[in-house]
Amino acid sequence: MKIDLQKLDRLRERGGKLIARCPACHEIGSDTAGDNLAIFDNGNFACAAYQQDREHSKRILELVGLPQQRQADCQPSFAPSHSLPRPKPQETPLPRPTPRQVSMVHTLARTLADSVQRCHELAAARQWKDLTVRNAALDLCLGWARFGPALKKPDVVCPDEALCFLYPAGVKVRFPTSGSGKNFRWLKGEGMNVQSLWRLDAITDETAIVWITEGEPDALRLMDLGIGEDRSTHEAVCALPSASYQLSMQELDRLRCRQIIFCPDNDAAGQQATARLAKSLQSISLQLQIRPIQ
Ligand SMILES: [Zn+2]
Repeated sequence: MKIDLQKLDRLRERGGKLIARCPACHEIGSDTAGDNLAIFDNGNFACAAYQQDREHSKRILELVGLPQQRQADCQPSFAPSHSLPRPKPQETPLPRPTPRQVSMVHTLARTLADSVQRCHELAAARQWKDLTVRNAALDLCLGWARFGPALKKPDVVCPDEALCFLYPAGVKVRFPTSGSGKNFRWLKGEGMNVQSLWRLDAITDETAIVWITEGEPDALRLMDLGIGEDRSTHEAVCALPSASYQLSMQELDRLRCRQIIFCPDNDAAGQQATARLAKSLQSISLQLQIRPIQ
């Protein structure tokens, strides 16, 4: 991938490829239809109006290209570290989503962010602020799925529409069971079933404090209190995908040299999660602070 899809305007899928407004055409007042730029599965791109025009391609990269070192590094989310042990051979790096998967995640997030009513209903059920839900959707962390021919249900028991938690390489669909419980299914059919910390990308170079909760709703609750929502506080909020999740080497690398505060549930699973997390962090000489969710 040479282009940063997040920087593109009017990104959508058409005929098996991604199209968007060409930024180089746009700056000279053309491509009003917003469909000149095509991005292919292998990351290559082409402008329909300036085919094989090197200067034009160069200008596109200047405007929306990924930084050079990012292109060379297939795993840009994690700064290479020489003092850390290399990932164990059995640990596969977090895959980078294909343009098609990126487009799907954007659609899920947009569907939620655009619905004032849906944001309000989800927030009201948990006594959160509507804005917390909408901001999470705009951060590409929460989405709303409408299943159909374009997006297959992960399971027959899944309803036609459902809330989803958006992960760096996964989509976790959450829906009620026939009783009072809840079901989770990862979108395996779309190849989006890789578990990681939820909101891992919220941890930036500036982050000093990382709050980790046992599940996404608790993380949303912290965000509702304003934690991690203001960049100037240098805090980030993440969640374990499940209480039994074991942090990967890559994630540990990302957490290095930061203050880690864990907010477990006050139960046996929470205690086990605390012990597991503390042990993982010990391997990189980090101490865990515990602040149980009330
Ligand atoms: Zn163009």
